[in-house]
Amino acid sequence: MKEIRNIIENLYELLDDNKESNKSIEFNSLVVNVLDKLCNEVEALQVNQEALEESISFLNEDISEIQEDLFEEVSIEDLEAYEDEYVEVTCNHCKKTIFIETQAINNNEIIPCPYCSENIVI
Ligand SMILES: [Zn+2]
Repeated sequence: MKEIRNIIENLYELLDDNKESNKSIEFNSLVVNVLDKLCNEVEALQVNQEALEESISFLNEDISEIQEDLFEEVSIEDLEAYEDEYVEVTCNHCKKTIFIETQAINNNEIIPCPYCSENIVI
């Protein structure tokens, strides 16, 4: 693209020069040159984009498979067991609610609140 910008700059200079002298042949060849290079750049972009679209469609398929696996393996029993492990605690200092592992509450006298850093257990 830098090459194309250089040609365009030359074109602008030639346009200015054209007021006094006739450089139309040079001007025309530069126009054709820049169009040719732009076409090449656009073609390269198209090829890249097609490759990207293909990669994304493969990624989408992979993600769909992963999602299916995830939903298959987490049963309602699993979710209930997960809920049992965590308890909802409201911080007495900032009144925000967080979920803490039941075990962590049983084993610790001090748990700092993630919002205000005060002890959430008291
Ligand atoms: Zn707090």
